[in-house]
Amino acid sequence: PLACWNGERLPLSEVRVSVLDRGFLFGDAIYEVIRVYSGKPFLFQDHLNRIQRNLEKMSLPADLGSIQRWIEETISASGFVEASVYIHVTRGVAPRTHRFPDPPPTPNVLIYVAAFHDSYSQFRHSGASVVVVPDQRWKRCDIKSVNLLANCFASEMAHQQGCAEALLSDDSGKLSEGSRSSLFGVKDSVVLTAPLGENILPGITRRLIQQLCEECQLEMREETIHQSQLDEIDELFLTATTMEILPVTRVDDQPIGDGQIGPVSRQLVDAYQKHIERFRNE
Ligand code: PMP
Repeated sequence: PLACWNGERLPLSEVRVSVLDRGFLFGDAIYEVIRVYSGKPFLFQDHLNRIQRNLEKMSLPADLGSIQRWIEETISASGFVEASVYIHVTRGVAPRTHRFPDPPPTPNVLIYVAAFHDSYSQFRHSGASVVVVPDQRWKRCDIKSVNLLANCFASEMAHQQGCAEALLSDDSGKLSEGSRSSLFGVKDSVVLTAPLGENILPGITRRLIQQLCEECQLEMREETIHQSQLDEIDELFLTATTMEILPVTRVDDQPIGDGQIGPVSRQLVDAYQKHIERFRNE
């Protein structure tokens, strides 16, 4: 992978960071992932807007204009056509104190571009199996911070059970999202997904799905799915930048609907592929 470290291009393996970087010490950093199709960053402005909102929520004084330019330059210099871009902004290096250092240090910005591999291809054909695990994350999941330990635990639990993803459940059994994806259900042809709030990440793909539902004349409702509803829900699918749409056919070893990928999921997968084809040819 090709990296850009505070504007300087170098191989990813050669990037060095101080142990006093607050991202290293406290997880005091935000990140972003963007998919590149045909050499072009997909939904670029939406991702830039989310970076900007995260910088503001964290009072992180990084310059979005430079970040945008560095992303564009690193994609072109990488020569990768099908790729993903990882962006990571930390509060920078300062003597170790919990409160934000005053004056603020210069943020450290890491960007790298790697060739894209579809890690979900084995699950796409017949639909994925997932498990439900308790949501053990903090109360500001709307911030895309690098504090991902609870997400890593959930993801590892899913992996140990041969599952593609973990659905996160709060104490009352409400399913907010996946460990690294947004969650959607389909009931009587109506598409359901949790309303935005501090308990979920505002997914960029989630927004695209809302748009595709409109184009496909599918009704969509912002309504949280409860674990106890799973036996009456017709379809379930997950979305994320590199995952795109992943139909889910089993939860905790129980089939969703008839255990096959449903018609609404198929329609949206198809609409998604067409949308990307249009983007490639723009
Ligand atoms: N929720 C969580 C917890 C995630 O980590 C991700 C992936 N970053 C998503 C949802 C999906 O977001 P996006 O569509 O912007 O990739």
